[in-house]
Amino acid sequence: MLLKEEIAFYKVCFDSMQMGILVCDANQNIVLCNTPLEEIFGYTNKEILEINASVFFEDSNIFSQFISLPEGDDHHQPIEIYGVKKDGSKVFLEVTFGNVWYQNTLYYKAIISDISERKEKEQQITGQNSILKKEIDNRSKELHDVIEQLKVSLLKEKEINHLKTKFITMASHEFKTPLSALLTSTELIIKYSDLNLYKNRDEHVAKVKSVIDHLNKMLDGFLTLENIEAGNITPNFSNFDCNSLINEIKNHAQSFLKNKQSLQINNNISETICQDAHILNIIITNLLYNAIKYSEEDGQIVISCNQNKSNLYFSIEDQGIGIPKNEQNLIFKRFFRAKNAMYYPGTGIGLNIVKGYVNSLNGSISFESEEHKGTIFKVQLPKIDCNE
Ligand code: ADP
Repeated sequence: MLLKEEIAFYKVCFDSMQMGILVCDANQNIVLCNTPLEEIFGYTNKEILEINASVFFEDSNIFSQFISLPEGDDHHQPIEIYGVKKDGSKVFLEVTFGNVWYQNTLYYKAIISDISERKEKEQQITGQNSILKKEIDNRSKELHDVIEQLKVSLLKEKEINHLKTKFITMASHEFKTPLSALLTSTELIIKYSDLNLYKNRDEHVAKVKSVIDHLNKMLDGFLTLENIEAGNITPNFSNFDCNSLINEIKNHAQSFLKNKQSLQINNNISETICQDAHILNIIITNLLYNAIKYSEEDGQIVISCNQNKSNLYFSIEDQGIGIPKNEQNLIFKRFFRAKNAMYYPGTGIGLNIVKGYVNSLNGSISFESEEHKGTIFKVQLPKIDCNE
């Protein structure tokens, strides 16, 4: 006997396949299937031969769609679809449809593998990948944030070092000159006392006082800067006469005006205003003293005061050396001094203080300047109601 003539042998081979094999007629009636197919769907051999193949697939039209294709238009590529087991549960399948001719009749076959396990693993891997991706994204973001913080710290440190250098340069110059003057004056005071030259001695005593006053003011400036930086400025609003304040500032400035320098006041605020008079005084005085310092002997300086319904406007205009265009963006920075101001005494903290004070009053400050023509600083402050 030749093995190939034995039907039983064919059946054993058929059933030992790793995949389920299903053969149907044109109406999807099952005419042949192997044991693995029964196992995939959970039917007995008897049950399976009595059902229609369409019940095996979640998309019940999938097999009929293949059957309706012109012959030879086989699905040679396996497709992945959901199958439905006898108990209604779903199973992930890989299916390849095809045609079979037997005794002049066309039959349709489906070769089916249960790929649930593989799919589950794939899904696990996809899940793990997405967790991993999230983790990598988070870590990258954290790393990016740390790098950004380091960059900011580095910039701050550079800025602090830069400020330190500027401060030392400024301080060594601005303190050295008055200290040398103090030394000279005290030596002369001793000398003139010995010689009984009291007039000369008194002149130097006055000079010592004024130098000490200047040094005191400079130190006050640094302390103010410190307070502004620490946010320790609390405005104290009260009603006061704007005219009196401006006159007080003007009178005080008279002794600082250079020869033939004139100071004009255009005050269009006649009534009392509600503001912090002390802070306003510091703002205008600082800007005015800069205007005096950076103007020539015969220059004119104008202080203007205006208002509308909601704001007060103050401006200080001079015809002085001006601020070079390429340095104008740095003018409010601490210790900054423009190149053309180097021959004038100064610490580079005045405008920084002014800006801090203006901010404390919720106001704004701006300027327009042209080298050799002059500068105008403009301050806007919101009107306050002291009765509120
Ligand atoms: P300081 O006058 O002590 O240097 P400030 O902070 O008051 O410090 O001013 C900073 C810089 O702004 C000055 O060094 C100067 O270069 C420039 N500046 C300020 N006001 C004027 C002005 N009215 N005219 C020309 N330059 C000015």
